[in-house]
Amino acid sequence: MNVHEYQAKELLAKFGVAIPTGHAALTVEEAVAGAKQLPGPLYVVKAQIHAGGRGKGKFKELPADAKGGVRLAKSIEDVESFAKEMLGNTLVTIQTGEAGKQVNRLYVTDGVDIAYEYYLSLVVDRKTSRVAFIVSTEGGMDIEDVAHSTPEKITTITVDPAQGFQPHHGRAIAFALKLKGDQNKQAQILGKQLYDAFVALDCDMLEINPLVEDKAGKLLVLDTKMSFDSNALYRHPDVFALRDETEEDPAEIEASKYDLAYIKLDGNIGCMVNGAGLAMATMDIIKLNGAFPANFLDVGGGATTEKVTAAFKIILSDPAVKGILVNIFGGIMKCDIIADGIVAAAKEVNLSVPLVVRLEGTNVEKGKDILNNSGLPIVAAADLGDAAKKIVAEVAKVSA
Ligand code: GDP
Ligand code: MG
Repeated sequence: MNVHEYQAKELLAKFGVAIPTGHAALTVEEAVAGAKQLPGPLYVVKAQIHAGGRGKGKFKELPADAKGGVRLAKSIEDVESFAKEMLGNTLVTIQTGEAGKQVNRLYVTDGVDIAYEYYLSLVVDRKTSRVAFIVSTEGGMDIEDVAHSTPEKITTITVDPAQGFQPHHGRAIAFALKLKGDQNKQAQILGKQLYDAFVALDCDMLEINPLVEDKAGKLLVLDTKMSFDSNALYRHPDVFALRDETEEDPAEIEASKYDLAYIKLDGNIGCMVNGAGLAMATMDIIKLNGAFPANFLDVGGGATTEKVTAAFKIILSDPAVKGILVNIFGGIMKCDIIADGIVAAAKEVNLSVPLVVRLEGTNVEKGKDILNNSGLPIVAAADLGDAAKKIVAEVAKVSA
């Protein structure tokens, strides 16, 4: 789960992290009222969407030469006019995709006189099973570009969670940022604060870009993105309360109601699979056959007919889907339950795209009988390879 920049900063501030003062706003009036509480004379009006690259983004409704979703304002009047320009409009950034995201919230902050911009992030590093700090002197810009063209400017420092954050980790972070004197000390303290927040809040990513040094020599978190491990959210009702469903894909929200792991992708073959590993393998084999999956969907181990029906409807709610591949291994999940769900859902939604089903495992014969006697045009597949070939061929037929 992701949260907005202002929410992430408020969470970090509880761990002592220094942030510029700011106020969230849902309306132009609130933005102006927020600005009036700040010292001025420089303010920043920031579009709050769950995507980065806002500064260089473009609003669909504004002229091509208009500024993006992070604007420096020199007066309250500026704040008001920028808020008017942004609220309700659609911001397109390198992270939103072409459709962009509607700006429904703003964050008005105290403008910082920036001396230098750094990069710092924390991620769960699966390779080392540790928390990794990724640090660079090249902040403010796209870190992917830095990683690509000047990888030597990025330093990774890992922390063993059993040992926790040690003073030497702080020194390594400060050293990688080439900081001296007081800034060096501030970076060491910040490293510890961020590590504490990351672990305590069960984050899976915490990115600060940029971390800035202001003209007075103070380190401040100017922009941050934070995401949380969904499996640990039950431990953090306060974090869960920050969820903004308007930022999420409606199909993914629907899926989460049924406890289905669904992620929308760009292809045209809908997939319904049980088990994340099998779902990955199914996506791979579709690609191997020259087509692209429209989604990842794991119905889980103990799915009911109701769950399968919901899964089916979610897949079909995506207009890009031109065919569906059901690939189920009945271990805990029984094939006849899946078959019932498929038949019920297909009838309910008036299935209009080809459907290939590969069933294997517990009650497979019962399941196949249900499908064969359903009167629905279901193509049966012998194995995973056969299933992929068949669905790709069926979709090619309807697309031709
Ligand atoms: P992003 O584009 O979504 O990553 O949004 P950021 O919050 O990182 O802002 C983009 C850029 O705007 C930063 O890298 C800064 O260069 C600039 N910026 C943001 N806030 C301030 C500020 O308070 N003062 C100044 N001078 N520049 C700022
Ligand atoms: Mg940024």
